[in-house]
Amino acid sequence: MRTPFIAGNWKMHKNLVEARELVAALRESSAGVAGVDVLLCPPAYLLFPLAKAVAGTDLMLGAQNVHEAPQGAFTGEHSVAMVADTGATYVIIGHSERRHVFGETNDQLNKKVRAVIAGGLQVIYCVGETLPQREAGKTQAVVDEQIDAVLAADVDAAKLTVAYEPVWAIGTGKTASPEQAQEVHAGIRTRLTGIYGAQAANAVRIQYGGSVKPGNAAALLAEPDIDGALVGGACLVAGDFAAIISAAAETVPAA
Ligand code: PEP
Repeated sequence: MRTPFIAGNWKMHKNLVEARELVAALRESSAGVAGVDVLLCPPAYLLFPLAKAVAGTDLMLGAQNVHEAPQGAFTGEHSVAMVADTGATYVIIGHSERRHVFGETNDQLNKKVRAVIAGGLQVIYCVGETLPQREAGKTQAVVDEQIDAVLAADVDAAKLTVAYEPVWAIGTGKTASPEQAQEVHAGIRTRLTGIYGAQAANAVRIQYGGSVKPGNAAALLAEPDIDGALVGGACLVAGDFAAIISAAAETVPAA
């Protein structure tokens, strides 16, 4: 049984006051929720103050990106060690905005994933096809290529979560149907099995991301290979994010 994993990608939203309010609301709403891992990925400058805000709770913190080098003349960037210093434990790597807006390549993402794991943190590695790629029937080939170029047997599967995020569903209000998402998730697990073997691949959590909302979360999370969600817009509203966490909690069998 894989523990459901709900992560919120705040992107470039929330100032300090708003961030503290959101965390306070989530502390309250998630207090009674058990059996779900919950991660908040705010803008990097908020990681230090929010480490205090989540202290004493099970809420975890992560960064949205990191530079692959340990230090150096990289204006505007931050290293894995800097993220770790804040108390954050995860880094999102390969988000479609990093790939498509900032031009990050599979080669660079490979270095980033390795740097994060070498630095003792965990990775959420994002993959997903564009609309033209889906319409050309290339979804699984694109996702497989993104996996093969970045993951390998010596990239610790125990430190890895994969997020399937069809680019056409991110921030658009268009969600992959549960069946469409499950098909790709199963394909991802097959690819991971080829790299890591069945036991390790079965333990890797695969999140779905792309316009996950309170109204569609339960149906997506009911699919056998959808182990959680990477949530953008809906994670900025405490009640919506809490409802998605509750939908994940509903999938946990009673003890
Ligand atoms: C995301 O940014 O990873 C995302 C899935 O965004 P949204 O939920 O807004 O589509």
